[in-house]
Amino acid sequence: MRAVVVASPGHVALQDIPAPLAAPGELLIQPVACGMCGTDLELIDGSIDPAYVRYPLVLGHEWVGRVLDGDGEPTGGPVAVEGIIPCGHCVECLIGATNRCETYDEIGFTRPGALAELISVPEGLVHYLLPSVSMLDAALVEPMAVVWRALVRTAIRPRSTCLVIGDGTVAMLAVHLLGRFDPTRISMLGVRPAQRELALRAGANEFLLEPSDQRFDVIIEAAGHAEAVTTALSSIARGGSITLLGLPPHGTQVSIVPDDFVNNDITLQGSFGYTRQPWSDVVALLNDGEVTPSFLVTHTFGIDDFNLAIETLRTPPPEAARGKVMMLLNT
Ligand SMILES: [Zn+2]
Ligand SMILES: [Zn+2]
Repeated sequence: MRAVVVASPGHVALQDIPAPLAAPGELLIQPVACGMCGTDLELIDGSIDPAYVRYPLVLGHEWVGRVLDGDGEPTGGPVAVEGIIPCGHCVECLIGATNRCETYDEIGFTRPGALAELISVPEGLVHYLLPSVSMLDAALVEPMAVVWRALVRTAIRPRSTCLVIGDGTVAMLAVHLLGRFDPTRISMLGVRPAQRELALRAGANEFLLEPSDQRFDVIIEAAGHAEAVTTALSSIARGGSITLLGLPPHGTQVSIVPDDFVNNDITLQGSFGYTRQPWSDVVALLNDGEVTPSFLVTHTFGIDDFNLAIETLRTPPPEAARGKVMMLLNT
C-alpha cells in the first residue's frame, strides 16, 4: 500500500510498504481524511522529544475512516480512533488518567499513522459516528478531544469572559467549543489578520492583534510561545483560570509574579492529550449536530500532493486564511 513515511528526520516520502493485517482485537480501517498539524512538522524535522517518536514512521494522527468488513469492503459511517493507546494496567491507567499512561504509545508517533491506504487499530479505541456526520467534521475529533479535555479541566463558570490566545486550529476549536460553556464573551488574540474571518465564524466576539487591557475569567493559551504565556499571566481576572495548551520549544521560561497569583486566587494549569471521556463527549456533540467544525478546513490535498500540504503547513499564505490542512485519502 502507499503511505507517507518519515524514514528518519528530514526524510519524508510517499512509499510502497506492506499493508497491515488486523491482529486479534484489531479492526482494519480505510482512512478517508487526515488532518496535518505543527506536530507533523516536528515529526518530519526530528525536533520532537525522542521519547515520543519511533522512526521509520507513517504520519497521520488526526483522521477519520471506514471499517472494512471481512471482504475488505468499507461498511457503516465514519469512525474516529483514539490515538493514545494506554497500557491499561499502570497506576495512571488504573485511576483513569490514560493520557498519562507510563508506556507512551500513540498512532502516528510510535506506531503507524493514517496517511496510508490502510491502518489496523485496537477495536476498543474506535468511536462510531452517525452516517449523517461528514467525514471532514469527523476528521477533527482528535484535536477537538484535546481541546475539550482542556476546557472541562478548566472548570468554566457560566457567564465567563474568555480569551483564547493563538489563531491556529487548536485555538479556533477552543473558541468554537467554549461556546458550549455559556460564556458572556469570547475574544481571540492572534497574529495573522487573515484569520479574523475564521475566528468570528468559530464564535469569537472579537479578534485582537494586540493584547488589550481587559481582564478575563478564563484564558486558554494555544499559541505556544513565551510571549503568549506572559500575556495570559498578565490578563487574568481575579479568581480566574489559565489553561496552557500550546507547546513552546522545550526549555522555554517565563517569569511570574507569585504574590499576584495568591492574592488574586488564580488557577494555572496545563492539559496533556485526552482520556476516553472527551472523545465520547466530542463524538456525541458531532452525532447530535451540535458542532460542525469542518468550516476550519481551508486546504485539502490528495496523497500525491503531500509535499504541497507540508509546504502549506510550514508557510501559511499571508493573504488568505489558513485553518486545517487536510489530506483526502481513498476518495
Ligand atoms: Zn495534531
Ligand atoms: Zn498505562
